[in-house]
Amino acid sequence: MAASPRSLLAGHRLRPRRQLGQNFLAQPAVAELIVARAGVSADEIILEIGPGLGALTIPLARAARSVIAVERDPHLVPLLSAELAAGGVGNVRIIAMDALELDLAALARRVGGSLTVFGNLPYNISSQIVIRLMDARRHIRRAVLMFQRELAQRLTAAPGGRNYGRITALLTYCASVRRLAEVKASRFYPPPKVDAEVLEIVFSGVQPDFPAHDEARLARLITAAFGQRRKTLKNALAGSALGLSSAALQQALLQAGIDPSRRAETITPAEFVRLEISLRGCRIEERGGAEDSAP
Ligand code: SAM
Repeated sequence: MAASPRSLLAGHRLRPRRQLGQNFLAQPAVAELIVARAGVSADEIILEIGPGLGALTIPLARAARSVIAVERDPHLVPLLSAELAAGGVGNVRIIAMDALELDLAALARRVGGSLTVFGNLPYNISSQIVIRLMDARRHIRRAVLMFQRELAQRLTAAPGGRNYGRITALLTYCASVRRLAEVKASRFYPPPKVDAEVLEIVFSGVQPDFPAHDEARLARLITAAFGQRRKTLKNALAGSALGLSSAALQQALLQAGIDPSRRAETITPAEFVRLEISLRGCRIEERGGAEDSAP
């Protein structure tokens, strides 16, 4: 990206659209550093979410086999195409659509392998993207994503603190997460209110270390537990719409070796799995933990 995002947009009479989380990386060196730290290899097929003006797309295309770049803002597509041509990369396919509507499994099947997902994510859909990646994790090798610092802290939190929540427990169950870089707000145009962090999320393969008996039930249990996180785990679950009786919960918690008076934020993913397995004989109502986009 030779010209700055500000002058590129101004040249087309465009302004950054806040509702699409448009904070463009304004320093090519930062994008190159992220791609280098991620160690992108020549056999990887990259799905980039929100390529914008191509700050990450160009270094990714140079390092990887190919890039599928999914951009929701149709006004940016001609600028992106021109930037890619100027950068001399020919292995990028641009798809103008909402990334939340992508069928990740079908896309992975079409390209004949697993995907590496990249993105400087629009902040307003970041958690929804993480949830969708978890759901499709069998088709995803890894994800290297830039988040607002607050969400990055939630995704990497250990049990026991206020940052540890539903999305942390769900993600830790099926992936390992490491910090790759911090990026100051001043590196973007326009600068967001807070700094960003780049995380690498590696899905640990088909089987987690402690597999649940039924992952959908596990997700419902975790969602209900954090639905009332100030209550004890037993009261939070008994008061939820999971349809579990207090007596059944008491017995299952003790069988799983969990003190019923603990709160959800202290429960490790492995303990949630033990609880789900202890509840194997009990029906868990679906409406109690319906998946939503909230973290
Ligand atoms: N990757 C570019 C960069 O680093 O400079 C742009 C990052 S900007 C934070 C987010 C990008 O995601 C914008 O280009 C925005 O238009 C795009 N976007 C927003 N919502 C999207 C969605 N639902 N699906 C795909 N792209 C989206």
